[in-house]
Amino acid sequence: MVLPPLRLISFDLDDTIVDSEARTPARLKALGEALRGAGVRREPAEWDAALAAALAAEPVLGGRFVPFLATLGLDPESGDTPVRAAREAYDAALYEGLGAFPDAFDVLIQLKPHYRIAVTTNGPAAMQRRKLALSGIEGLLDAAVVSGEVGVWKPDPAIFQHMCGAVGVPASEAAHVGDSLLSDIAGARAAGLVAIWRRPSPDALPGSDTPDAVIDCLSDLLPMLLPRSR
Ligand SMILES: [Mg+2]
Repeated sequence: MVLPPLRLISFDLDDTIVDSEARTPARLKALGEALRGAGVRREPAEWDAALAAALAAEPVLGGRFVPFLATLGLDPESGDTPVRAAREAYDAALYEGLGAFPDAFDVLIQLKPHYRIAVTTNGPAAMQRRKLALSGIEGLLDAAVVSGEVGVWKPDPAIFQHMCGAVGVPASEAAHVGDSLLSDIAGARAAGLVAIWRRPSPDALPGSDTPDAVIDCLSDLLPMLLPRSR
């Protein structure tokens, strides 16, 4: 794969830089415990069904919280005490032990002399900023663009244009790396960036949102992007 000359590499945050998905079992456990602690009583088969529904959900777009509660017959939008307790426990368990993938810091350090580095992430401002702080890579970034702060969400091309503007590099000289075919790959391509898909597993298929390149881990970027290898 020959990439055009690039000056800026943007990264998605969740499940591209930080291993958010690794927190799923602990988050769902905390969610169930919080509901039980708040007095929610169900048959074991119902708890199992809620867990299955949560695990089957699309974590990026819809999240796992809503199907878990809905399967138990609870309104995820209600302000009831069990629902609020569940939300708090579910969010708190995200941050415990959350960190970057083991190769993330090293890869960014190696890319840093050659490229401007940015993060372009969807999510509420406070949540994404806290994840960024836990990632340990904040100091390496030229820009961090959070949808909750700028008011546009991937895959809207406007967020990628905003990120490029913040760094001062045109989209034609930028690449975006992410795990979501819709948010990251389709969005980046629509904005005119090179789209590099960090596929969630080696057997995942890109479908109609064709990426310009595919990686399995961030280290795969190095032979692709370091000048001596071009
Ligand atoms: Mg992601």
